[in-house]
Amino acid sequence: MQKTDNLANMNENKVCIHMGQFQDSDVLRVSSELDAKQLDLEFDDLIYLSSLNIEGEAAKSRDVITVKVAVKAKLEKKCSRCLELFQEDLDHSFKFREEIGQRMEVDITDHLRESLLLLREQKCLCSDDCDTSKLWNQNN
Ligand SMILES: [Zn+2]
Repeated sequence: MQKTDNLANMNENKVCIHMGQFQDSDVLRVSSELDAKQLDLEFDDLIYLSSLNIEGEAAKSRDVITVKVAVKAKLEKKCSRCLELFQEDLDHSFKFREEIGQRMEVDITDHLRESLLLLREQKCLCSDDCDTSKLWNQNN
């Protein structure tokens, strides 16, 4: 097993893993920064206060590449109950498997983007008890 830097072309705002020297027993380090605005990941109730920091590794087995990455960023969200803005640290791990086929590089940017959009669909509250605390205030 050998560790090598592959990597990602930051200018293009993509995370690509190059197949050139990638042997079956290799584990490549994946490390990149992505601009969330360019990836169209922002919404009325969610903006990115930092770039997306991506760290992880890629392994290859025959025709399949497995990529495990941790994605970190600083977010500002709007609570869907009280409409207050609050900050949150995004820190989430994702795993992708992809057939390599004839490609010389595998671009996981779309996988990452879709995974982050799915995360967003979870309910967005400023705190676990936002609902009850607001009801309490209204009743008093
Ligand atoms: Zn709230």
